[in-house]
Amino acid sequence: MPTARAFAVSSPTARFAPITIPRRDPGPTDVAFAIHHCGLCHSDLHTARGEWPGTVYPCVPGHELVGVVTAVGAKVTRFAVGDKVGVGCMVDSCRTCRACQAGLEQYCETHGTVFTYNSPDAHQPGHRTYGGYSTAIVVDEAFVLRMPANLDLAAAAPLLCAGITTFSPLRTWGAGPGTRVGVVGLGGLGHMAVKLAHAMGAHTTLFTTSAGKVADGQRLGADRVVVSKDAAAMAEVRPEFDLIIDTVAAAHNLDAYLQLLARDGTLCVVGAPPTPHPSPNTGLLIFGRRRLAGSLIGGIPETQAMLDFCGAHGIVSDVERIGPEDLDRAYDRMVASDVKYRFVLDLPQA
Ligand code: NAP
Ligand code: ZN
Ligand code: ZN
Repeated sequence: MPTARAFAVSSPTARFAPITIPRRDPGPTDVAFAIHHCGLCHSDLHTARGEWPGTVYPCVPGHELVGVVTAVGAKVTRFAVGDKVGVGCMVDSCRTCRACQAGLEQYCETHGTVFTYNSPDAHQPGHRTYGGYSTAIVVDEAFVLRMPANLDLAAAAPLLCAGITTFSPLRTWGAGPGTRVGVVGLGGLGHMAVKLAHAMGAHTTLFTTSAGKVADGQRLGADRVVVSKDAAAMAEVRPEFDLIIDTVAAAHNLDAYLQLLARDGTLCVVGAPPTPHPSPNTGLLIFGRRRLAGSLIGGIPETQAMLDFCGAHGIVSDVERIGPEDLDRAYDRMVASDVKYRFVLDLPQA
């Protein structure tokens, strides 16, 4: 059986260390590719450090992987050796339920979504799926994305999670010219939300806890930046937002943002902190017919549409590239909100 080099943690408190993992021989509909780069998502950290329940060790995180095709199965029609491809948070699903049929595999109704890491691996019983902090992977072509030729491959890697997770709610709730969008948190997801909302033509306001990120917020496309720890600045913001996307990785008071929604506005939570947010004041929903919503990544067709949108608009992530020896330090910096604005791991090539 083929193998790959990978970087894994063996417990919630362990440091990253190299291991060898099995990768299956490509089946008829599989695409094998060499992973060149993989973004670091805060979800990787929640999983690796056991902040969410259910992590099985050793754990190889990474669900923003990009690389170059090395082999394809006999029935593969859409990819060829040498193509630049990507894989996001999913590598399979049941494919038959209503959600899968609708191209919303992330909401698979049979609980058949196979996540890129830490899911049971039907191809290799006894193993979990192992993610993109590794040198190679084999994925069914139905879950492989085509990377736009004009985008830098390393800088485009974070589109596979941070990009689609913010693109999907922006599209679902109609961000565009004449709408007002708020983004809470300027990390990996938040900076993509700012770039995408701006590119869609929405008036975009960034809320950040970090006074040092104001200039970057403006450079990335925010029409206005509000430091959320500044009570006087927050009090000046009117209830004007059609959509606020909350990307914060820690529990916090949602009322501060619910009260800034216009009538019929939506607060969409995408941040997934280890402990729940305090229950919101439902009076803020009733007076104003406001909505509190959530959103999980995006389906495969929408992910390809997002990549094509980014290709057409020249949108990539602002990345800081690291080697495997930097993984633990990068995680510590993520916890400290010190990310500008996505770490991307460069994988050693054989
Ligand atoms: P990240 O790069 O670490 O950014 C999170 C940002 O939240 C920080 O940069 C910071 O921005 C803000 N923040 C404020 N207070 C914080 C605190 N106490 N601890 C941490 N961050 C704080 O994380 P990310 O990769 O964008 O992910 C954000 C969250 O989304 C995570 O919980 C992740 O698991 C989740 N996620 C969800 C989905 C989904 O499908 N729904 C997909 C991917 C990730 P400021 O400095 O600007 O305040
Ligand atoms: Zn992610
Ligand atoms: Zn399904």
